[in-house]
Amino acid sequence: MTTIKLHDKTFDTYLSAEIIQEKVIEMAASLNNDYKGKRPLFIAILNGSFMFAADLFKHLTIDAEICFIKLASYRGMKSTGHVITAIGLDHDLFGRDVVIVEDIVDTGKTLHNFLPQLHHQQPASFKIVTLLHKAEATVFPLPIDYVGFIIPDKFVVGYGLDYDGLGRNLKEIYQLSANA
Ligand code: 5GP
Repeated sequence: MTTIKLHDKTFDTYLSAEIIQEKVIEMAASLNNDYKGKRPLFIAILNGSFMFAADLFKHLTIDAEICFIKLASYRGMKSTGHVITAIGLDHDLFGRDVVIVEDIVDTGKTLHNFLPQLHHQQPASFKIVTLLHKAEATVFPLPIDYVGFIIPDKFVVGYGLDYDGLGRNLKEIYQLSANA
């Protein structure tokens, strides 16, 4: 096991680069099969998903498009809580087969708040792909169609995921050390 330090915390290897790559290939194979003859639009949620989305996309053999968006949360005028705006969503989703690409789904809140906006644009179909899912942390249940790894509710970094800006460049995924 390798231990790394980012800022004030230590992290231990959790998923090796090889295991991640095998899973990415497996997920891409499922997508290639499910979207045969279609031209899906992948929407990758920045920042964390950039590495997963790039690797996944490399293994797609179907015709596919990709765009990258950032979700920004702000308090709406109503008391209904946070509104999510999508920065960079310049594609018309009407009639498209849309696939959302996430690095990690934790409580599900971010996507849950964003989904009404997507549905509003009336895509032909809509699916969610996430590399990591903290299933036990779910507060807002989501229809997640493709999950790489179900992981415990512990903080992870690497492979696009950061701890206060650091760790995104790591090829492996690390978990916060028990004694950190
Ligand atoms: P949710 O809205 O599902 O609760 O959280 C989603 C976002 O929280 C993710 O896109 C990610 O930015 C962040 N997040 C949740 N868990 C982790 C984690 O273990 N590590 C890191 N680096 N970010 C996380």
